[in-house]
Amino acid sequence: MKLIAANWKSNPDTAKTAERLALAEDYEGVIIIPPFQYLERVRSVLKHASLGAQNVFWENGGPFTGEVSPSQLKNLSVSFVIAGHSERRAYLGETDDMINKKIKAALSEGLQVILCVGEPIQIRKDGIRSAKDFITNQIRYDLRGVKRSDAKKVIITYEPIWAISTSQNAEPDIPEEAAEICAYIKNLVNVRGVIYGGSVNAKNAKEFLGRDDIDGALVGGESLKPKEFQKIVSAATPLV
Ligand code: PEP
Repeated sequence: MKLIAANWKSNPDTAKTAERLALAEDYEGVIIIPPFQYLERVRSVLKHASLGAQNVFWENGGPFTGEVSPSQLKNLSVSFVIAGHSERRAYLGETDDMINKKIKAALSEGLQVILCVGEPIQIRKDGIRSAKDFITNQIRYDLRGVKRSDAKKVIITYEPIWAISTSQNAEPDIPEEAAEICAYIKNLVNVRGVIYGGSVNAKNAKEFLGRDDIDGALVGGESLKPKEFQKIVSAATPLV
């Protein structure tokens, strides 16, 4: 079954809207990833989808103002956490070292990890080989010291930065090339799956999700539009 992760980012503005959105996106194979403040409310209405968090800290408890710990998330029935999202890497200065610590802390608490990797546009302009090299470095660093058995609890999202809808002049990757990179990642590490993210919408979803090498999608902007999101989920559902 393909996985569809709904990353709501810093949306919506009210808990009531979050609840409505969660009810409209509550399908098997979907991971709903709301802001922290709605986790509990969203969890209370979900019957089919899993729950994810957008970030995690690497310590359980202590003097870390504003941070949310792996055990706190676990106790809220969160199953997945995102690590390495480019919005945090680029705009909040999150380093591979921090990402590595987060991943190890989350895994040791039994959480599964959605690790985002992807190259900036200048790298991709140099060709797909350069993009693969860039991603290889990110993965090697971010998963350093993670046991093989734990790597099976990691989903890697290939998200070229320039394809994320909030980037300037964003456009989705060419599905064939995204699939080539996902296949490359699968050869590099033995993880639970490799999914694609970056401007996935109802119109292009089938082109990505119809490919064997792409195990699902991370959906940002379109996960705030229930009707469009439902079409993406339908594109992921096998016909038989
Ligand atoms: C994302 O949030 O990681 C993402 C891929 O966003 P969008 O679908 O809006 O490009």
